[in-house]
Amino acid sequence: MRNLGSSVYWLETARHDPRASLGHSVDVDVAIVGAGFTGLWTAYQLLEAQPGLQITLLESEEVGFGASGRNGGFAMTLLDMSLAHLRRNHGDAAAKAAHDAVATSVDEIGETVAAHGIACEWVHGGLMVVGTNPGQMQRVEADYRTAQELGLDGFRRLSSEETRAEVESPTYLGALMEDHCGVLHPAKLTNRLAAVVEGMGATIFERTPISRIEDGGARLHVHTPSGVVRAEQVVLATNAWASTTPWFKHKVVPLYTYIALTEPLTDAQWDTVGWERRQGIEDKRNFVHYYRRTDDGRILWGGSDGIIYPGGAIRPRYDRADTVFKRLESTFRRTFPQLDQVRFSHGWGGPVAITVSFMPLFGSLLEGRLHYGLGYNGHGVAPSHTGGKILRDKVLGKPSELTELCFVDTAEPGFPPEPLRWISAELTRRTLLRQDAAFDGGKLGGEMDPLLLRVMKKLG
Ligand SMILES: Cc1cc2nc3c(=O)[nH]c(=O)nc-3n(C[C@H](O)[C@H](O)[C@H](O)COP(=O)(O)OP(=O)(O)OC[C@H]3O[C@@H](n4cnc5c(N)ncnc54)[C@H](O)[C@@H]3O)c2cc1C
Repeated sequence: MRNLGSSVYWLETARHDPRASLGHSVDVDVAIVGAGFTGLWTAYQLLEAQPGLQITLLESEEVGFGASGRNGGFAMTLLDMSLAHLRRNHGDAAAKAAHDAVATSVDEIGETVAAHGIACEWVHGGLMVVGTNPGQMQRVEADYRTAQELGLDGFRRLSSEETRAEVESPTYLGALMEDHCGVLHPAKLTNRLAAVVEGMGATIFERTPISRIEDGGARLHVHTPSGVVRAEQVVLATNAWASTTPWFKHKVVPLYTYIALTEPLTDAQWDTVGWERRQGIEDKRNFVHYYRRTDDGRILWGGSDGIIYPGGAIRPRYDRADTVFKRLESTFRRTFPQLDQVRFSHGWGGPVAITVSFMPLFGSLLEGRLHYGLGYNGHGVAPSHTGGKILRDKVLGKPSELTELCFVDTAEPGFPPEPLRWISAELTRRTLLRQDAAFDGGKLGGEMDPLLLRVMKKLG
């Protein structure tokens, strides 16, 4: 029985047989904690590089239960708050290397899906980042300029007419089209990828929560309720849940983001929208709206706000947020007035991990035997694939261009302790929402760092 607080369409349409939980102690080469995209891609990359490696994945609920099985399904390149932020915060060479690594992952996800016949509704239709007011258009221009100046491939500017020829909305003033993006059915990908890694020799235990990881001398000891996994190396791939570990309780904070899903549109309704290319779409708010078509003709509509619950708690009941669902429905109707008859059938949410730097965190602890990859700030579908390769290189002790990327082995500043963490995060959220509203009212203002990030940078 899934520990869900809501009805998650992706999980409903990608059932799989339950797996056994761990019932004994075992010795393995590598234990991976968490069976979302990060854990699964790490297992996949490791077994490709070194077949025969003994790998066990330990998942507290079931494969794809976390953000990986319930996200928007956009495999996209975004790191930091925008391409312009990434360049400003990390410099030209590091920004280009990080962007290119994730763009390569987008292509490789498509190749892996094809090579293994993974039926996960993969459509490589690109990403259309739309501006719906002059302030957002400034950001579209800034990203386009950045892409050109860095020499990145696959970016095109679209005029308002060109944008509306792709997808008809009276709100579109123009867009940036990026080729390196695909959409997929996330729970089908986690399920099938899990089966692929099992076929390659990995073992996956579900309903096996780990309580702690201890240095047992020659091996690390990963404790579960009914057995200890003694592993030469451990990979921590629990993203938002890492906030409950001693190492990351000040480095990541869980933020809930939400999705509403329409009923299938009729052919006549689709004719009024277009969207033949089936690209993912985002706007340029601080709290973006992200939306896409599903294979069965629905529109998935997510974003608009993000909620950090007191104490950074993660609870099944937080999977629903009716006020956010209402706001999502109203922005959907503003964007597509021609679809005023379309009803919503599902709404759900889930926790992502936010970091102070707004970049993922990859590194190693316990004398290089415990490796971690987490903190994707709501954009982990493609970066977790890059992350699987980074974690592979770390486990195999083979430094590479990937282990040199600007979000690997960094000294990440921490959040302040509670209740300051929640108060400052809430202030940041309100500031960002106020700016979104001011942009909607016609103001200009360009890019903005979250308040919390600026404060932490000053302190750190
Ligand atoms: C509503 C929503 C929409 C999103 N949309 C997008 C999108 O369109 N594009 C995009 O790029 N990103 C999106 N994201 C973010 C993306 O889903 C995540 O960045 C990515 O899935 C992270 O993968 P992960 O494997 O690191 O973490 P998760 O998928 O969260 O996996 C962590 C796993 O660890 C398990 N776990 C936790 N604690 C323990 C423990 N103690 N013992 C054992 N197991 C444990 C959890 O059950 C979970 O299965 C979205 C997220 C949400 C919630």
